[in-house]
Amino acid sequence: RLYNEVQDLKGNIRVYCRIRPFLTGQNKKQTTIEYIGENGELVVVNPVKQGKDNHRLFKFNKVFGPEVTQEEVFLDTQPLIRSVLDGYNVCIFAYGQTGSGKTYTMSGPIVSSREDWGVNYRALNDLFQISQNRRNSILYEVGVQMVEIYNEQVRDLLSSDGPQKRLGIWSTTQPNGLAVPEASMHPVKSTVDVLELMNIGLMNRAVGATALNERSSRSHSVLTVHVRGTELKSGAVFRGSLHLVDLAGSERVDRSEATGDRLREAQHINKSLSALGDVIFALAQKSPHVPYRNSKLTQVLQSSLGGQAKTLMFVQLNPDVDSHSETISTLKFAERVS
Ligand code: ADP
Ligand code: MG
Repeated sequence: RLYNEVQDLKGNIRVYCRIRPFLTGQNKKQTTIEYIGENGELVVVNPVKQGKDNHRLFKFNKVFGPEVTQEEVFLDTQPLIRSVLDGYNVCIFAYGQTGSGKTYTMSGPIVSSREDWGVNYRALNDLFQISQNRRNSILYEVGVQMVEIYNEQVRDLLSSDGPQKRLGIWSTTQPNGLAVPEASMHPVKSTVDVLELMNIGLMNRAVGATALNERSSRSHSVLTVHVRGTELKSGAVFRGSLHLVDLAGSERVDRSEATGDRLREAQHINKSLSALGDVIFALAQKSPHVPYRNSKLTQVLQSSLGGQAKTLMFVQLNPDVDSHSETISTLKFAERVS
């Protein structure tokens, strides 16, 4: 009950913080993470700065330390995901600098065993399982879209013509007011279907990029799962959707160093991430005007931000002391919206 009230106050926005472990070979580095509380407290320290203002306290709905497994993170996300099958629109996204674990949380490591699966595979797996369990009362149909937003252009990662074509944003508006991108829709019946599609999407994401990692850190990828439920007794139809978003890296790019394409990319990323921050801030404040139209990202996500929709943000941190200033700027972004 109390939890619901807190949720209401925040306009259905929840913020989880996840700190990735030091990677092999990185073990001797100093950490900026001073304390992780049971109730979502996080204290960050700047070890090279002396004095009392070198500690800062932040508060989240939950903080996951470096030892927390993919399974545990998913379990705290599961109720939200399952509400999609009851007709809710849900948006889950990962925010943080490049290398902070956004892709790890959302998808898992590049070569992954089941145990390493991130939120998106587990979510789909769970949705199929629950829909099976309910098959005597509800018929569920599931469709998947996957787009990339790069330099304020939307591309279909699952198009049979390849990802070159730029999409206009929305063609159709469905009966429940859900705007759907022009991007191709792929019916799926099992987790295996989804895995196949995601692999195609990942391959297409690499097209035209010098290296997959480079490009993927400068574009947003959005996987959308559309669910249509038909109640067998009454014939009533309802819809829900799940947006799973791996955002572009939030790191500041030094304006004096970046030029040409790199600068343009940086400006687009900056613009879209601040537009996202502005939308969530407006929602959290219950502001009558929510500025969805300021970026492609917020337009794509509009149906799953605000209204009855539920939003979960993973704030990803690199524990390394060298990342201290990026960590603080990531935490400030989170603080504004929570
Ligand atoms: P990002 O997508 O934010 O750039 P990645 O997800 O690629 O970051 O993570 C960077 C590196 O850290 C990868 O090698 C990834 O496998 C590893 N990593 C991230 N989070 C974790 C974690 N919780 N446990 C183990 N390894 C992690
Ligand atoms: Mg990534």
